[in-house]
Amino acid sequence: MEDVRVRFAPSPTGFLHIGGARTALFNWLYARHSGGTFVLRIEDTDAGRDTQEAVDVIFSGLRWLGLDWDEGPFAREKFGPYFQSKRGEIYKKYLAKLRSSGLVYDKDGAIYFKISGKPQVINDLIRGTVTRKEEKDFVIFRSDGSPVFHFVNVVDDIDMQITHVIRGEDHLSNTSKHVELFKAFDAKIPHFAHISLILKEHGQGKMSKRDTGALVEDYEKRKFLPAALRNYLCLLGWAPGNDTEVLPIEEIIKMFELKDVNKTNARFDEKKLAHINSEYLRSMPMDEFCDLGFRILLDQGIITQATDREYVFDILSICQEKVRSFEELTNFVSYFFSEDYEFDDVAKEKLAKFDPVKRINEVINGIMDMTEYYQEKLEELIVSLANFHHVKTGYYIHTVRFAISGRSVGPSFYRLLSVLGKKNVLSRLKKALNVFR
Ligand code: GLU
Repeated sequence: MEDVRVRFAPSPTGFLHIGGARTALFNWLYARHSGGTFVLRIEDTDAGRDTQEAVDVIFSGLRWLGLDWDEGPFAREKFGPYFQSKRGEIYKKYLAKLRSSGLVYDKDGAIYFKISGKPQVINDLIRGTVTRKEEKDFVIFRSDGSPVFHFVNVVDDIDMQITHVIRGEDHLSNTSKHVELFKAFDAKIPHFAHISLILKEHGQGKMSKRDTGALVEDYEKRKFLPAALRNYLCLLGWAPGNDTEVLPIEEIIKMFELKDVNKTNARFDEKKLAHINSEYLRSMPMDEFCDLGFRILLDQGIITQATDREYVFDILSICQEKVRSFEELTNFVSYFFSEDYEFDDVAKEKLAKFDPVKRINEVINGIMDMTEYYQEKLEELIVSLANFHHVKTGYYIHTVRFAISGRSVGPSFYRLLSVLGKKNVLSRLKKALNVFR
């Protein structure tokens, strides 16, 4: 079998669209699956638009997603340079080849490629056989001397010995031009695999950069777990063949075949992504969750370097199973770090039927009498109060949770009481009495 060489060839547009990220991912998966080489090539021939910043967005997006490239900028430079803007000499050499075989001509300052006039058959690994015929000679160098996309794209794929061109379906219509060029250079035609589009979640058409959730950088800002986004992107156009959605990347690499990539367009599904992200969060080793959570709370100014690290880790460890994303973490834990937490009116209304002032007073007295304050003892206290007063434990649990946090949801109740500590719980309960009066 030939050594697989694939490439991701983005044009630096200033952002990394999730469609582009998925193209990169499928190339990377295929390279890792086949023990091949993943090349990163920057198609920056549009001199006016491309900036360093725009290129950096691509590097950082790929790195964040863990899509490491073997060859390209900052990696092995076997067939470099990997920026098209630096490959002028190479393009001149290739142009000379076409000239010497009489396949180009000049007109109005531009250089045209002479098409064969024959239909071109493309055996696409995803779409099957596609036949297209070019009708017109096309420009390969503009009158200002700059080379055109079709030309540089094919020259680089030849020069970098690319064996599989895996890219978005929007390029399928270019492929007959590309095949004509491969043949003109007498080069081996790579395998093509055109991946279907990602449709926007609501409404019609392809997801555009203006749609929410279209840019990789947004997920990084929103503290998504990169492995979760990567897992989700795998499922946009590919499926493991059973109902599993969350699966380790090593498994996906083992299973990933181009022939299994869907022909039909995939629709973006924010809920599914959120669900996968929460699954990753929950199954993360607790230490790792706490470390990441700690840094997020620091960044957001919820805690400082002076905050007791052990207290923060205790809080994070009881929140891991309940919080659905790091995006919501700050709000989820804010009341642990401030005595100034707000009381939710809707939640308060619902407690009226439990006789909250009475419940709170009973718990205050019960806690004051406790000699040992820990989870199991707290549970014993609540159960015995409920039995004594002939009400369900929920009367106490809902009321007290609200009193000490201002809301109706949070980490498991007895763990919450124990992490907050006796002194703090008592002072919060006393303060909350005013809320009900
Ligand atoms: N520079 C092209 C793009 O960003 C890549 C084309 C290709 O992968 O062949 O769409």
